[in-house]
Amino acid sequence: MTNHLIRDFYIGFIRVHILFHTLMSPTYGVELMRELNRHGYKLGPGTLYPILHGLEKSGLIEHYEKCENGHIRKYYTITELGKKAFNKIREKANELMQEINEV
Ligand SMILES: [Zn+2]
Repeated sequence: MTNHLIRDFYIGFIRVHILFHTLMSPTYGVELMRELNRHGYKLGPGTLYPILHGLEKSGLIEHYEKCENGHIRKYYTITELGKKAFNKIREKANELMQEINEV
């Protein structure tokens, strides 16, 4: 069981992963979930989709629908605002990593 505070940090990291992957190429929920699992984040759709919707509501990502094998899939992609936010976050993350890895 991960405690709530640690969970909040992880959700922040997960948001950064989502911004990064939607910057690299449009991606959908299941693919993101697989990617996040690979990084050790065990999250299901009940956690991922609210995070995606929050990022979308904030204008950082957006989605379009594409029909694939007879069903509609939502592809998420980063917005211009999201790109700007991602650049700032990356700078801050680099600064933080440098400091905490010095010791
Ligand atoms: Zn990743």
